[in-house]
Amino acid sequence: MTHPDELLALDRRHVWHPFTQAKTAPDSVLIRSGKGAVVYGADGKEYLDLVSSWWVNLHGHAHPYIADAIAEQAHKLEQVIFAGLTHEPAVRLAQRLTSLLPGDLNRVFYSDNGSTAVEVALKLALQYWRNLGRPERRRYLAFEGGYHGDTVGAMSVGVSSGFFAPFEDLLFEVDVLPFPETWEGDAAVAEKEARCLSALDAYLDRRGDETAAVIIEPLVQGAGGMRMCRAEFLQALVQKLRAAGGLVIFDEVMTGFGRTGDLFACLSAGVTPDLICLSKGLTAGFLPLAATVCRDPIYEAFLDTGFDKAFAHGHSFTANPLGCAAGLASLDLLMKEETRARIAAIEARHRKHMARLAHHPKVTRSRVTGTIAALNVGVEDSGYAAAIGPRLKAFFLENGLLLRPLGEVIYFLPPYCISDSQLDRSYDTLERALTTLNPA
Ligand SMILES: *Cc1c(COP(=O)(O)O)cnc(C)c1O
Repeated sequence: MTHPDELLALDRRHVWHPFTQAKTAPDSVLIRSGKGAVVYGADGKEYLDLVSSWWVNLHGHAHPYIADAIAEQAHKLEQVIFAGLTHEPAVRLAQRLTSLLPGDLNRVFYSDNGSTAVEVALKLALQYWRNLGRPERRRYLAFEGGYHGDTVGAMSVGVSSGFFAPFEDLLFEVDVLPFPETWEGDAAVAEKEARCLSALDAYLDRRGDETAAVIIEPLVQGAGGMRMCRAEFLQALVQKLRAAGGLVIFDEVMTGFGRTGDLFACLSAGVTPDLICLSKGLTAGFLPLAATVCRDPIYEAFLDTGFDKAFAHGHSFTANPLGCAAGLASLDLLMKEETRARIAAIEARHRKHMARLAHHPKVTRSRVTGTIAALNVGVEDSGYAAAIGPRLKAFFLENGLLLRPLGEVIYFLPPYCISDSQLDRSYDTLERALTTLNPA
């Protein structure tokens, strides 16, 4: 086995890490293995994975049931072209996903990651209107603080996340509405929602006929800072879009597969979007796979005798059989009574600790939706680049917690196998961080 120091030297020499300023970032931590909610450093140190490894892991690391399902599939069929051919894992996963999603969300288009799931939804929405003879419906509506991925279309609808300054010239024009962010004890929530909805009304009066679709991360905006909204707002949004004729895209790349308590945020909110984007938790963090699922009428608008109305889009690894096998195995685990119970227990634990932390002098805006808990640390320089972020991250790592504050926002988004005592310990460490670190 290569010595850890040698690997790290090679990493520094040859590897370019995502979302990282290599000049100032501390050295990467070399991870050798993972089990349950813990990953193990090459130096033997344990890290509790409270971010589910960028929100993808559901059932713990190296889960043997999923690992076995992938291995079994790899011995049968690792990959096959998906135009003109099909295979059992893709068919069964599509059937299972659509049976879990509400309404007539019946048609699955596979791709590889969250950004492509979003690109597919944006392109489907545009071509849907074009196929129906309504090409003037070409505008997209998005929300302040929304993040939808790093490809050009996804950046365009996520422009307000603030990550994309170098690329602004590339982006297409998107209308951005305020997002009614809320938290525990927020007395102004109804007023904020009313303001956002009247901004929506004003927009729809002006441009409703030109709108192809609205895209939103339902209930929780992830990368924008774990900003939460209420189901009532989503219900009103969908109703108004339906009345104006625009499509509704739910980007559930992060919120899908139990994160918000229910299997999907659209189920918690009691609404059926026209298109839903799924990725991250789809394979429980084992393999890159994504699905854009649409309602029947959207699929039907692409049917014709000529090719012109077909959706000319695909990826080399569309519906990769290994990814689909991992997705099926993950759903087996997710639907188990004990997993559902863990999800409920994680939420209850979050609520208990957050109720206590809400009174901490450095804490503002504590909030919980399902298995996601977040709070803001009161600092003056807020935002993704807030100085407190790297200091908190270093403190947590030192104390065996894998956490990645989004600027001054600290959040827990753990895999569902995390135990109550692991969570309790994490909150203890968080409290110590708040007390020790002077947020300067
Ligand atoms: C992470 C994320 C994406 C992008 O997914 P990638 O797999 O990183 O391309 C899109 N939308 C949301 C809501 C996300 O959290």
